[in-house]
Amino acid sequence: MKIICVGRNYTDHIEELQNEKPEEPVLFQKPDTSILLKKQPFFIPDFSNDVHYEVEVLVRINRIGKHIQEKFAHKYYDEIGLGIDFTARDLQEKLKEKGLPWEKAKAFDGAAVVCNKWLDKKDLGSIDDLHFRLQKNEEVVQQASTSHMLWKIDELIAYISTFFTLKIGDIIFTGTPAGVGKVAPEDRLTGYLEDKKMFSIKVK
Ligand code: ZN
Repeated sequence: MKIICVGRNYTDHIEELQNEKPEEPVLFQKPDTSILLKKQPFFIPDFSNDVHYEVEVLVRINRIGKHIQEKFAHKYYDEIGLGIDFTARDLQEKLKEKGLPWEKAKAFDGAAVVCNKWLDKKDLGSIDDLHFRLQKNEEVVQQASTSHMLWKIDELIAYISTFFTLKIGDIIFTGTPAGVGKVAPEDRLTGYLEDKKMFSIKVK
């Protein structure tokens, strides 16, 4: 399986990092080795002094597809989840300055938190207005709705599938809203989607 991530999909997050608003979705991938193993803490890697959490809504692909039209995109997923796109922000800034790929800053081991349980989209309201939040210890640090996305889930699936064949089990990370920040040892990060607890991980 592969993980396809969308960068710069929420205006408030683009502004907080002073990035340019993209004309098309920004895509990158994480390998399966980046998935944080179940029940394991997240260990801050030695090569970074500024690892950020980014909470994101996830979509799990349930059939193979290429060049999927937006109007049919909803047939390619049943389950919605929540995860974290951990980012070594200091390393990413260096790579961005040089115009180099971001992989080392975003695709390292443990950099993808994927929820254990997924929610059936039948049990949710509109996919384009799902509320989610991330708590760091007791504090809510990120809170948003998928209605704030620049590109909605079905648009993303159509766009992604013009470049990459989507396969069963592939996961799309749909971008992060504002409020990203640094993690420190002993932090606990807990994610909620429509008030359901989706993951809780410890930082070491
Ligand atoms: Zn992200």
